[in-house]
Amino acid sequence: MNATVAPRASIEVRGLCKAFGANPVLRDVSLHVAPGTVLALLGPSGCGKTTLLRAIAGLETPDRGEVSVAGRLLCSERVDVAPEDRQVGMVFQDWALFPHLSVAANVGYGLPRAERRGTRRRGARRRGDGGDRVAEALDMVGLGGLGDRSPGTLSGGQQQRVALARALAPRPAVLLLDEPFSNLDTALRVDIRAEVHRLLAELDITTVFVTHDQEEAFVLGDEVAVMREGVIEQRATPAELYATPASAWVAGFVGDANLVAGEASGELAQTSVGQVRLTTEARGPVRVLMRPEALTLAPGEGARVDLVEFYGHDSVYEVSLDDGARLRARVAASPSLTRGQQVSVRYAGGPTPAWPSPAGAPADPVTSLA
Ligand code: ATP
Repeated sequence: MNATVAPRASIEVRGLCKAFGANPVLRDVSLHVAPGTVLALLGPSGCGKTTLLRAIAGLETPDRGEVSVAGRLLCSERVDVAPEDRQVGMVFQDWALFPHLSVAANVGYGLPRAERRGTRRRGARRRGDGGDRVAEALDMVGLGGLGDRSPGTLSGGQQQRVALARALAPRPAVLLLDEPFSNLDTALRVDIRAEVHRLLAELDITTVFVTHDQEEAFVLGDEVAVMREGVIEQRATPAELYATPASAWVAGFVGDANLVAGEASGELAQTSVGQVRLTTEARGPVRVLMRPEALTLAPGEGARVDLVEFYGHDSVYEVSLDDGARLRARVAASPSLTRGQQVSVRYAGGPTPAWPSPAGAPADPVTSLA
């Protein structure tokens, strides 16, 4: 299947800056996406994700910086390759399908006329030789034979795949997806996400997709770049991001985070739930990251269960410590503790990051960013 996709290509972004009026949206963004990697651009609304994606696609002209794909310079002070000549496939947030055109016509939209045919005919040229790209792209996304249908007669998942087929038809070197699942309801979203995940793995095409959904970024991304206010705060594999976030903000953005007050001395910190080993040395008052699943609860002293949330595969307890701190603890079992019960809380995780407590901050034992 991947024989019909352009060879795996890298994406290189160097020092990209973009402001809309007085509003700086991209601040010196650099990014390397290795060939075949699926990179999730994750960040809160308005942090500049879509602007970065559009700048790679050539739909937005940066004020400064460079973009290259497969080693070819697409944008710099002196170069500005038109979007259609960049070999970049883009899937938009709303999929942008034309309801009055057939599926095949949608997929062929933008292709040179000779390459548009949507259904393979006797004597048609074989896949990969320059002809019949529409049928080829529909085959790639598993919609072969549906070219004559109109988009309105297809399911949400199938429409999503038509949008992907349209992006793939010109055989792009890389694929860019802007919030590809945002107009699907939750149940459908999970199914279609899994489908697109399989498809991207099969196609083996370098992909950048934008999302504000941490779960989506973790599930689909080989790597995740976390953006905030026009800056990439951290870029790592999902597992690295979760275990060793670079800042307290990233810690809270990529999952439930208890930030527990402690006193650090070297690689150890003393906290109200025990001594904790740190990933890097620190001294003085710190906030220690404790993921909810790294806390254990048992009937005992020192805390009280305030809330019990049962999720089927596990349960979350919200507890308040005697010193007033509130923590969330996740246990892989049905609830065995009840609201109001006295419990003891211990940290049972591995080495974890800590950050200096903000100067002048009140002596609040816990900040939960969740
Ligand atoms: P969202 O998840 O909400 O789409 P985002 O991270 O993708 O957010 P962008 O769409 O890149 O963010 O927008 C970043 C900022 O730039 C926002 O404040 C937005 O209002 C502003 N912006 C984007 N495009 C334009 C434009 N064409 N003109 C003026 N301001 C713009």
